[in-house]
Amino acid sequence: MKKSLFIILSTILVFTGLKAKGQIEYDKYFTDNQLRIDYYLFGNSDTVMYAVDKLVKEPTWGGQRLQMIDNMNYGKYYFEVTLPDSDIVLYSHGYCLLFGEWQTTDEATKISKGFHESVVMPFPKETVDVTFYACNNQNEFVEQMKLSVNPDDYFITPAPKLPYAIYNVYGDYPVDKAVDIVLLPDGYTEKEMGKFVQDCQFFVKSLFSYAPYNRYHDRFNVRAVMVPSHDSDITMPGDGLYRNTALSCSFWTFDSERYCMTYDNETMKTLAGQVPYDQIYILANTKKYGGGGIFNSYCVSTTGNSYSSDVIIHEFGHGFAGLADEYAYDGTDNYNLEVEPWEPNITTLVNFEAKWKDMLGKKTPVPTPVDKKFENVIGVYEGAGYQLHGIYRPMIDCLMNTFNGNKFCPVCERAIERMIKYYTE
Ligand SMILES: [Zn+2]
Repeated sequence: MKKSLFIILSTILVFTGLKAKGQIEYDKYFTDNQLRIDYYLFGNSDTVMYAVDKLVKEPTWGGQRLQMIDNMNYGKYYFEVTLPDSDIVLYSHGYCLLFGEWQTTDEATKISKGFHESVVMPFPKETVDVTFYACNNQNEFVEQMKLSVNPDDYFITPAPKLPYAIYNVYGDYPVDKAVDIVLLPDGYTEKEMGKFVQDCQFFVKSLFSYAPYNRYHDRFNVRAVMVPSHDSDITMPGDGLYRNTALSCSFWTFDSERYCMTYDNETMKTLAGQVPYDQIYILANTKKYGGGGIFNSYCVSTTGNSYSSDVIIHEFGHGFAGLADEYAYDGTDNYNLEVEPWEPNITTLVNFEAKWKDMLGKKTPVPTPVDKKFENVIGVYEGAGYQLHGIYRPMIDCLMNTFNGNKFCPVCERAIERMIKYYTE
């Protein structure tokens, strides 16, 4: 291993949050390129080990240049870029991972697995430290891995230029003042790329037909990488249907029929890196209803059924704005009720001030009964985040709950609006 890439694996340091976190001057520290750090997470429900795969230099940084420090405090994971021997933070970003979701499954209590994951950051002009943190169940960020990255390291490989056309679906706004979405097709053959073009246009039409996106037409760019698949449609293991597709998306992710994700992180990130992006969205060419969205990681939605528009926007609520599902099942206990969850649209009432208390009417009871009387009233309704008890949602219905009402509740709407501003102001 090269000396310039020191790797210190650690699981003992608890992040204190005492670092200098003023916004910094982009051009002083970063070039226009993007650095992608590929790594593996190995483990089970209790343990995790981080291991570096490789570093890749990609053509264009698609993220912020003004708000370099992520003050949203969202996500189960977090990484930050600092100057060596200094507490000055140059860049930070919160996110979630497919691995983190898998850790909550029953399977993870029985076996260990390995997942390929990545983070991207602006390409540094000088040697920097990159530190990875994960949240424990007390909501404390614990240091997991620290890298020293020397930008002159000749083992940082340039991204391959792929032979796929780029389709500019919507917007030509400056990258640093827009939310840049890259659309990737899965299960569209060469002959079906015309259908993918139509589905990209459907994506944009869907996005701008929901508030608050409809008020921010001039803050989004949408680009697509035109990569065809060998087979049409995508893999459905529960039906015995296996397809050879560009992104390898599959239903029955974690053995949940409608959950449609991919384990092929490297292909996804390599394709996305052909254009500047903040958010990755895979459109899967199938009539079957499903999808998934992981905060600041990626979203998948299927395009061929009557719910596609709602699914597209619901999943983007997870992937872009960090919104939790507002529905509940019987018998699940994913959340620690002693701490406030990070998602903006659910609360355990441990720190409700940090959530939507300011939006509550003076006479609204807490908790609020699920009663016709309170329909369309912002309140605190029990049952959210898959749990029937101890977790509360802001409205009886919302697009993060069901597709009956076809719109976000005001709390989700405000959270999305804040996220748009975080990326664009
Ligand atoms: Zn909501």
